[in-house]
Amino acid sequence: AVPLVVAINTTMAARNGMLIRDRIAMEEARDLDTIVFDKTGTLTKGEQGVVEVATTEDWDEDEALALMAAAESDSEHMIAEAVRAEARERELSVPSVREFEALKGRGVRATLEVETAAAPGIGESGMQDEETIHVGGPNLLRYLDVEPDDRLTSFADEAGERGQGVVYLIQDEQAIGAVALADVIREESYEAIEALHDMDVEIAMLTGDSKDVARAVSEELDIDTYFAEVLPEDKDKKIIELQEQNKLVAMVGDGVNDAPALTRSDVGIAIGSGTDVAVESAEVVLVENDPRDVAHLVRLSRKSYRKMQ
Ligand code: ADP
Ligand code: MG
Repeated sequence: AVPLVVAINTTMAARNGMLIRDRIAMEEARDLDTIVFDKTGTLTKGEQGVVEVATTEDWDEDEALALMAAAESDSEHMIAEAVRAEARERELSVPSVREFEALKGRGVRATLEVETAAAPGIGESGMQDEETIHVGGPNLLRYLDVEPDDRLTSFADEAGERGQGVVYLIQDEQAIGAVALADVIREESYEAIEALHDMDVEIAMLTGDSKDVARAVSEELDIDTYFAEVLPEDKDKKIIELQEQNKLVAMVGDGVNDAPALTRSDVGIAIGSGTDVAVESAEVVLVENDPRDVAHLVRLSRKSYRKMQ
């Protein structure tokens, strides 16, 4: 039989917007040493916006942005939406896509239809041709072994100092353009982390985003450690690293990318309108998109523990 006090607290949890899918995890929550938060969409709103565009010397901003928007046509990523929105705002004509591939945790690859400008004496003008381009962040640069020029590097450094992420346009193994993207920290995240610190829980952050952005968000929120530029398939390894230091670890996330880390952690917590995969991998589901509920969960678990003794 289910101990009465546990049953009561599961009901209490439900009333507070927490769905307990595994009661053992609810008990374990009182002993958590470290809580790892996904950044994008969990501690931040995940609604990106393009704040600035840069290109290498012989490229035009609008030209680069149009190609980026084309490459992002079929991507569901928030970054893709932001790039498309900026192209719409600037009323750019966006080339058609022949082939598209999402490169998970890195960016996208697309083959576009382009009009070739006729070189003098050769061919006709307005000929149809195709070209393959990539759009993505630092993980993509590493994957393709591309190094941006000084201009784009200082653009990215300045964006990084402002805590903004940068996504590059790559053509013929060269970065020719970049956009800086801003996300917004959730107001509730400050309180959530303060409350957890007060309960002696360490906070870590796990993200596929750049080190610059991770550092800026960590400093702003007073987060103890962060893991940046982590590929989706490596997220669970960071949880294992913490567990190998004898820590009881919870993971809080919302995305498909977070599922292996949610499964691996001692207490997997899916937050908000998380994807089905995230929910399936978690022991606790927080119904609202509110990181403060993580602190509520630990508090509730500690309260029920005391009653059971
Ligand atoms: P997170 O771990 O923050 O939820 P993802 O794993 O989805 O992020 O992506 C990690 C990084 O890969 C992003 O910060 C971005 O640099 C790059 N990226 C992923 N998808 C795209 C895309 N569609 N367009 C451009 N960049 C992308
Ligand atoms: Mg996320």
